[in-house]
Amino acid sequence: MTMPSRETAWQECINPDCRAQFECARTLFKCPKCGDLLDIRYDWDRIARPAKLGAFADRWARRDQPLDFSGVWRFRELLDFCPDACKVTLGEGQTLLERNDPLASQLRIKPGRLFLQYEGLNPSGSFKDNGMTAAFSHACMVGARSSACASTGNTSASMSLYAHACGLKCTVFIGSGRIAFGKLSQAMDYGGHTIQIRGDFDDCMRQVQAVCAREGIYLVNSLNPFRLEGQKTIMFRVLEGLGWEVPDWIIVPGGNLGNSSAFGKAFAELRRIGLIDRVPRLAVVNATGANTLTQLFNERGLRWNDGRVDQAMIDAYYDDLTQRGFSPHTCASAIEISRPVNLKKCLRALDICNGVVLAVSDEEILDAKAQIGATGLGCEPASAATIAGLKHLLADGVVGRDERVVCVLTGHPLKDPNVTVEYHRDRKGAFSNPPVEVPNDLEQIIRHL
Ligand SMILES: *Cc1c(COP(=O)(O)O)cnc(C)c1O
Ligand SMILES: [Zn+2]
Repeated sequence: MTMPSRETAWQECINPDCRAQFECARTLFKCPKCGDLLDIRYDWDRIARPAKLGAFADRWARRDQPLDFSGVWRFRELLDFCPDACKVTLGEGQTLLERNDPLASQLRIKPGRLFLQYEGLNPSGSFKDNGMTAAFSHACMVGARSSACASTGNTSASMSLYAHACGLKCTVFIGSGRIAFGKLSQAMDYGGHTIQIRGDFDDCMRQVQAVCAREGIYLVNSLNPFRLEGQKTIMFRVLEGLGWEVPDWIIVPGGNLGNSSAFGKAFAELRRIGLIDRVPRLAVVNATGANTLTQLFNERGLRWNDGRVDQAMIDAYYDDLTQRGFSPHTCASAIEISRPVNLKKCLRALDICNGVVLAVSDEEILDAKAQIGATGLGCEPASAATIAGLKHLLADGVVGRDERVVCVLTGHPLKDPNVTVEYHRDRKGAFSNPPVEVPNDLEQIIRHL
């Protein structure tokens, strides 16, 4: 079971009572000994890397070198698990950290303290591409032929894009009626074989794991630890955008909890190798209709506890969901998940970053989304949970109005046009901006200007 000592990267079980190690060349997704989640670990002493974070940014200028141009792979020494020849890139990670003073002013935050990280600018329009470039690089390294995922939408769009970039077959499992149109249209257009299961995301997630195990298909959900390695780079780029200064807060929506997990790991590793000297605090925001993390963390006190997470508490919570026939519901379809696969890793991230968890209503999400659209580049509903959550954190005094806050906007506004049109056209909230209908007459048109 132990890996050969010459490896600089390996897979390791996060369960402190197991800690089994496996070569990166294996395709596992869960610890074969105890069934817990796997991490990618590195022998940092043996990885030659730039002494300063700024050196990574310099690579961006070399646009003719795909791995330097990629916002993921120009940080390649910090996710050094596969040879360059296997890396699959589509120019992901060309994203923007926007200082948004107009929105800061609406939230009564000091100017220059609120930043929005637009991950919707990725090739498939969501942050998932950061993870998918890493997962498919690993898939190519192990010679996978076929890939699959369960998806609320964006994973399927991203997978379909990357699978075909490297010639893998791909199958998407989606729940019936729960997917935003922009995302479904991408999966179909990019040629993903789409299977709609009569059930919700959690049902799809269970089925896809069984299918992949039985048929030897490469699974690209965030259960895949290589995906999370790619998603670490979102935080590297945030630091880059801040001139390598660590912000006070990172705020991220919580669905399957892969992103929050990856962010915690990114900061722990940067601190461990001496590239930063402190970590930011982390706020993970659920929708109230899909609030497992909030319930377990805030109401029941579930904690990382040095890796000895109270599994019985989690099992009891899930048993109760099953007995009640509970299915999560929120307009933010990307976070409509009640059994988050990365729950334990997220607890670790909250531990590393002294994090907080909260839930926001759909109304709050939609209002925040309209405010982001009216002051910045816009986002999809799940992403707006960050600003909705920030309002609560400011009101409760958890976040100070002079603290430096980065909200991660996970997906592009065109992902879910229906929700946007309904909000504005049907005047659903305080920030609705409906079109005005006028007769085809110049005088009347001018009167309505
Ligand atoms: C996948 C997704 C999320 C949820 O991220 P997790 O890592 O699963 O918590 C949030 N927003 C968007 C737009 C997504 O696509
Ligand atoms: Zn294990």
